[in-house]
Amino acid sequence: MRTVSGTTVPGADLVNAARRAALDNQTGDRFDRILAYRLAQVRSELAAHPDGARLTTEFDALAAKARRSPHMRVVVDAERCQGHNRCHALAPVLFDIDDLGYATAAPGSVPADLEAAARLAEANCPEHAITIDP
Ligand code: SF4
Repeated sequence: MRTVSGTTVPGADLVNAARRAALDNQTGDRFDRILAYRLAQVRSELAAHPDGARLTTEFDALAAKARRSPHMRVVVDAERCQGHNRCHALAPVLFDIDDLGYATAAPGSVPADLEAAARLAEANCPEHAITIDP
């Protein structure tokens, strides 16, 4: 998306900012309402852009990732993990950190009110070591 200063902002950054802002506010049902509101705001701004059709298509694909899915599990690729700990900072319940700082996924499926936090951790892992299943 082109900003008023003439620079561009990747759609993924807009979605992640909306997620982060919503996560900061609350979790659970209230989180869902705030997230939907924020995503709708960003989408309407994108639609007003001259290249709005393409941007909203890309945005919709990214926003779909924010939706809840049953039996979600977090997977950390040990080969990729470099121990940045961003995942643990964003979702401490979902990630265990060893003595060297490397992450592993906490056992079990992701609680419903932490699914957005799991997506946020996935999006912010600089090594792309985190995947969400399904
Ligand atoms: S953010 Fe990614 S690379 Fe860093 S500790 Fe977590 S899984 Fe590993």
